[in-house]
Amino acid sequence: MLYTRTIKKKRIRFFTAMLVIVTALGGTAVSDKVYKSGDPGVSDIAITIDDCFDIEVLERMLDLFLKENVRVTFFPAGSFVRDKDGDIWRRVITEGHEIGNHTQNHRDLTKLKLNRVKDELRNAQNTLNRVLGFEYPLTFMRPPYGSFNANNTLKKIYHSGYDRVIFWSVSQRSAQAYLKDIRNGSVCLFHTKKQDLKILSELIPQLKEKQFNLVTVSELFRFTDEKNLNEPPGQ
Ligand SMILES: [Zn+2]
Repeated sequence: MLYTRTIKKKRIRFFTAMLVIVTALGGTAVSDKVYKSGDPGVSDIAITIDDCFDIEVLERMLDLFLKENVRVTFFPAGSFVRDKDGDIWRRVITEGHEIGNHTQNHRDLTKLKLNRVKDELRNAQNTLNRVLGFEYPLTFMRPPYGSFNANNTLKKIYHSGYDRVIFWSVSQRSAQAYLKDIRNGSVCLFHTKKQDLKILSELIPQLKEKQFNLVTVSELFRFTDEKNLNEPPGQ
């Protein structure tokens, strides 16, 4: 009896050790839920614009996307989504772009407890709804600084209602450098900086010339259930 118990304990210890190793290698279901790039067999790429601290640059970007007939995905921090800019944020939606949750205060989520992570995500959603004047459900998120690899942060994000965590695969400092790195499925990171506006105005025509389709994050990752979001669960 004692002998069996010891064996069992040893076995449990062994499996626990294996689990820790597998988790450390990233082989769990949790890390599979981070979306970094799309299907390498399809020539779709996504442009994403983070933070959105400069609303004037954002407007000029919207003009560029309209002229080029391109749809992108914005990840604004809630604190940069201001009541006076309601018209601009409504324009983002009506011109076919998408918005993802990038938290309210752009804090490093790996340093926050579960309840604070929940607050950060919920407050960003509430701010956007208030500024828009209607409900726009944020269905995917990007952690500030792309930081989520510590203190069970991914789990906290999932427990806050977000199982679609969007990363990026290309971030560069010139149009040429982007062109060199972009391939099928790339998710490209930009901010509302004048320099990024300049890069985008050079880059977009060249990407079109190379036959890339510029799509939103939902399109890239085929999040096809968006249409059901406003329906009650179970219907
Ligand atoms: Zn950010």
